[in-house]
Amino acid sequence: MAQQGNIGVTTENIFPVIKKFLYSDHEIFLREIVSNAVDATQKLKTLASKGDLKEEAGELNVHISINKDAGTLTVSDRGIGMTEDEIEKYINQIAFSGANDFLDKYKEDANAIIGHFGLGFYSAFMVSKKVEIITKSWQEGSKAVKWSCDGSPAYTIEECDKADRGTDIVMYLDDDCKDFLEEYKISELLHKYCKFLAVPVIFGKKKDWIDDPSGEKDDKGNPKRKEIEVDNVINDTTPLWTKKPADLKDEDYKEFYRKLYPLSDEPLFWIHLNVDYPFNLTGILYFPKVKNQFDLQKNKIQLYCNQVFVTDSVEGIVPEFLTLLHGVIDSPDIPLNVSRSYLQSDQNVKKISTYITKKVSDRLSSIFKNDRKQFEEKWDDIKIFIDYGMLSDETFYDKAKSFALFKDTEGKYYTYEEYQTLIKDNQTDKDGNLIYLYAQNKDDQYTYIDAAQAKGYNVLLMDGQLDPAMLGLLEQKLEKTRFTRVDGDVIDKLIVKEDTKKEELPEDQKKTLTETFKNALPTLDKTEFMVEAQPLGETAAPVIITQSEYMRRMKEMGRLQPGMAFYGEMPTMMNLVLNTDHPLIKQTLADSKPELVSQLIDLALLQNGMLKGEALTKFVKRSVELIK
Ligand code: ADP
Repeated sequence: MAQQGNIGVTTENIFPVIKKFLYSDHEIFLREIVSNAVDATQKLKTLASKGDLKEEAGELNVHISINKDAGTLTVSDRGIGMTEDEIEKYINQIAFSGANDFLDKYKEDANAIIGHFGLGFYSAFMVSKKVEIITKSWQEGSKAVKWSCDGSPAYTIEECDKADRGTDIVMYLDDDCKDFLEEYKISELLHKYCKFLAVPVIFGKKKDWIDDPSGEKDDKGNPKRKEIEVDNVINDTTPLWTKKPADLKDEDYKEFYRKLYPLSDEPLFWIHLNVDYPFNLTGILYFPKVKNQFDLQKNKIQLYCNQVFVTDSVEGIVPEFLTLLHGVIDSPDIPLNVSRSYLQSDQNVKKISTYITKKVSDRLSSIFKNDRKQFEEKWDDIKIFIDYGMLSDETFYDKAKSFALFKDTEGKYYTYEEYQTLIKDNQTDKDGNLIYLYAQNKDDQYTYIDAAQAKGYNVLLMDGQLDPAMLGLLEQKLEKTRFTRVDGDVIDKLIVKEDTKKEELPEDQKKTLTETFKNALPTLDKTEFMVEAQPLGETAAPVIITQSEYMRRMKEMGRLQPGMAFYGEMPTMMNLVLNTDHPLIKQTLADSKPELVSQLIDLALLQNGMLKGEALTKFVKRSVELIK
């Protein structure tokens, strides 16, 4: 005779609550049920290894099966099973004190609710109108029992027939959840949540080829092949992160990466995490080769708890700059079933974050020390991660400053310290400031780079996405240091070494000269020119265009920061510097021929890629006339 009872739920009826609140995340029921089956199997293995199990353990796999006619999805294991008493204790008596308050608070967060109540098993009701547990305990002489519940707090329990030890969870799917009877759907969920579970999870069959057992040969003398059906095992029960780093080769890490992110390029570096005190954490983080912005968002670090996939949003667990990395983190110590805000204040989580930052910087530092060549080769690709880290995390900056690199326009790499030593003698100005010259584009700023190099200066290439912010940071961190783009001023003024007075033109002549050029300037969209006259030596160009470092940075910031859009809208302010030492400028002063003035201006514009459209056509025509 079947017994009847009520599940110990104080809330009037928990099942509608489960269904309603957990609806958006309801696919996780499969993860919950399958991991229970895995747990029960592992417990059995432990018993067997201790010699406590009297019978044969047999094949210890978890099977998932679909019965479309009956409308059921079944998860079966050969684990420890449950006695009737255990069902009473573990399934029927779920404590729901304060359930209403809690449900109200966390109604958006299915994980929190499930975790709080130990609701793992009950998540089956998110998708089922009826659930049966058919189970037989490992203990000698146990009788098989069947528990059945139709989604109200009432259940029945009765003895039943079951040959094997273990548990079947039979879910009679709701009418609106019939897609869980589709093979592709279950397959997709198993791949998402169960890919690395520690016990083989089998879903259906797949085809495989073996040598024909008859031993017969084909025409070429090779063994005949035979197609067979084998169990379709979903998971890799010993994923790479659970293995010892000493036993693994580079190729193993690369292969595992391909498994995680099939379409991505080979990773640059990886870090095997392995700690068991004061918290438990394993995992592998990869520095990806990023081709574009899209790549950064697409692949994410996956978070596991004892090899069960939990989430791929790791914000709050790893430092923000490391969320750009790829790979897996597995920790039973991260309180996964809580809300995000709680997570971020958790002490363990803070320690984990600090630990990961330290491991990442230690690893980079050791590659830098042991294989500088490799480090330099990959620098351009990892630079964005390191810059981001240095900008957003003070402790990371302190570690990374010893291995972060500068690259000059010749493609040579230097540490910060090496670079300081390199430029100290030649690039210190009269006030003792060390001037770092840089270019953002080697081609656009070619003439200026050339002029600086002719003076014996070194020019850095700062063409990275985060470089504008980086040089701001470095100016704060490094004492008496200034960064100036090579076209920030005429070469003599980029690094002012002494107050040498050169022979200047009388003011009235300067005025005539600047007025003449100002009037001849073509109008350029959103660009204004300050015209000035200076003696720059006979060998320098007659007309030079520069843009002050300050104005340019303001505009760049305006483009990046919404609050400063005002600066971005302002016209670009450029300087047009007339070299009063140059014979051609002297000539225009004596006799200002309009075509000579225009020609000089246009040449300077041309050199800066600023001569376009009609102005360019005019220039070409004028040049042809002058050659004739
Ligand atoms: P949790 O797994 O967090 O303890 P669940 O609600 O998922 O909570 O399960 C409650 C209990 O029911 C488990 O702790 C376990 O003792 C028992 N149980 C559930 N599924 C199985 C199973 N497949 N085999 C044996 N025992 C199970």
